[in-house]
Amino acid sequence: MTRRHFLQQSSSCGVYLAGLGSFGLGHLFAKEVKRRVVATEKWGRLEEVTPGVWAMVSTAFDNKDFTTVCNSGIIAGKTGVLVVEGTMSPKGAQWIAAQAEKLTGKKPTDLVVSHFHGDHVNGHPGYGNIRTWVTKSTQTAAEKNFAKAKTVIQPFNEVQSLSATEPTKIDLGGRTVTVVPRKGHTASDVTIEISDPQVVWTGDLYFNRVFPNYGDATPNLLNDFGKVLDDLDDKALIVPGHGTVADQADVKVYREFLAEIEAACRKSHEAGTEAKAAAKEYQLPKSLDEWLVWSPSNIERAFTAWYRVLKK
Ligand SMILES: [Zn+2]
Repeated sequence: MTRRHFLQQSSSCGVYLAGLGSFGLGHLFAKEVKRRVVATEKWGRLEEVTPGVWAMVSTAFDNKDFTTVCNSGIIAGKTGVLVVEGTMSPKGAQWIAAQAEKLTGKKPTDLVVSHFHGDHVNGHPGYGNIRTWVTKSTQTAAEKNFAKAKTVIQPFNEVQSLSATEPTKIDLGGRTVTVVPRKGHTASDVTIEISDPQVVWTGDLYFNRVFPNYGDATPNLLNDFGKVLDDLDDKALIVPGHGTVADQADVKVYREFLAEIEAACRKSHEAGTEAKAAAKEYQLPKSLDEWLVWSPSNIERAFTAWYRVLKK
């Protein structure tokens, strides 16, 4: 299967990124890590963000091990321990659960998934019995895919529906996690946020130095989320869906990227060029092409997504 064909056939970010990974992305994750690393595996590392809070950065591409593909995290309170994302495989979730128990003395009690894509949800059975916070829309889409999977994946455990319009607060005892409904990467995304210090898990509303997957995206809303990132505290830490933990300097580059893609898509749309043809001709500017994944298919997805918006 060619790279292009592979990407056309794949609908979830997990499969999409696994395909990209096999074409070499590893250098992106090797840059200096600023936080204390408490555990490292072939597929990822666990970085201490602040006492009781850890970010898991998937390094799947470095070693072509896709036990985890998206980033995740552990947030501990006095009474509860929340984990972010179901990850790609039960083995990945089991590993995060084991790390949580080792670091906090407690098994994870709560899981939040950011959206329905397989690399964020398929591993959820690895957590065993856990309260799962998910929007109705994400639950429906994910469980539809679970039922169709080669090896059927069980539905989510002990579901607590997240509001699609209002933030939900989850009390972990001395620490509150706020889950905020968003849109942009899919029709139903959520961000997982703590304050003091401000840390935001964005799901796939933000890819740091990896070309985003526009497959199910509404790009104007994705750009609006770029503004949300820009409005965070100067010292906020952002855990993207994919890529290393980010700060405002990284966000600035990401917003330049989003603006560049929008401008290119508007220009070719106005000129009447078909999305496929425009994507084929398009080249990222030099300032952005060093660290972004380059593939005809992911660019075509971006143009196709923008054309959906511009047609309206
Ligand atoms: Zn995704």
